[in-house]
Amino acid sequence: MREQDRNPALPPAPRMNIHKISTQGENMKQETETNNHNGGLRASSPAIDPSIVMPSIKIVTTSWDDGDPFDWDVAKLLADRKLPGTFYVPIQGHPSAERLDPADMLSLDAQGFEIGAHGVSHKNLTRCDSRQLVIEVEGCKKRLEDEMGKEVRMFAYPGGRYNRRVVAALKRAGFIGARTTEMLALDMNFAPFSMPTSTHVYPHPRLDYFRNLIRAGAFGRGRDYLSRFWHAEDWVSLSKMFFDSVLTNGGVWHLYGHSWEIQELQLWDGLKEVLDYVSNRPGVLYLANGRVANREVTKSTSSQICPPATTGSQEIRSDVHSPRERQAGICHVR
Ligand SMILES: [Zn+2]
Repeated sequence: MREQDRNPALPPAPRMNIHKISTQGENMKQETETNNHNGGLRASSPAIDPSIVMPSIKIVTTSWDDGDPFDWDVAKLLADRKLPGTFYVPIQGHPSAERLDPADMLSLDAQGFEIGAHGVSHKNLTRCDSRQLVIEVEGCKKRLEDEMGKEVRMFAYPGGRYNRRVVAALKRAGFIGARTTEMLALDMNFAPFSMPTSTHVYPHPRLDYFRNLIRAGAFGRGRDYLSRFWHAEDWVSLSKMFFDSVLTNGGVWHLYGHSWEIQELQLWDGLKEVLDYVSNRPGVLYLANGRVANREVTKSTSSQICPPATTGSQEIRSDVHSPRERQAGICHVR
């Protein structure tokens, strides 16, 4: 594996109406970040854990790194299931020279997918000097925005490497959030520039998960993994178990991967099985990374967000959902 992209859980809590949640969410204080022992960042003491004020929110999001042409195959699988996806595209192809061209990205955008930045040349940003850092961070944002004619809000750290200096550069460039390669996360208790994932489309041995947790300093997740998910046989069953936990307890289920790696290791059947499992579920919000990182579910966008079906509400958007979906309470606003 060329990119060491790796890295849960919430107690049951009473349900809450999403419109009340919107008001409370606006009052959340900005989270803080601290260096962990490995130079990365993690949320240290968020003022309010959104998973506490929004116990019934269940979110599915996915992300795909490197802009390989096989992203088209991933996008097809997602589109067939009305699932969201954020595609993080470097300016120079990685690991091969090929990458999605502007027309490809515009087509993905037109299908409702999100395009995010992934650096210019897929460098480890923590090793860049100040000038290189500006080139990598601001350069990729400007180039993608020029190619697409729209704002690019999200970033994924190449190799998952970042530190406080990198985050500051991303904020200066105007990004709203960034995805890490931390795994085994299921809650919304993360800083926007330390967005973790749940599972990776890759046959990790269990030791990889522990290394990933240690690197992230995520010892609470480690405890949950050992107590609740240790017996998962592979990434497919682990992904399903994590989704079951989100259905029961609320939270964010975030699958990420690399299409070139899926092709290289022929992981397509497993990916289809997982995507089938999590798609078209009543009461689940299907959102791109940017909308999750930006806490848009907590802001006054209730007219754009579908309430859980269990509330019995009829407010699922008629402009983007079929009558059957509205009746079943299935929301796939991306
Ligand atoms: Zn990458």
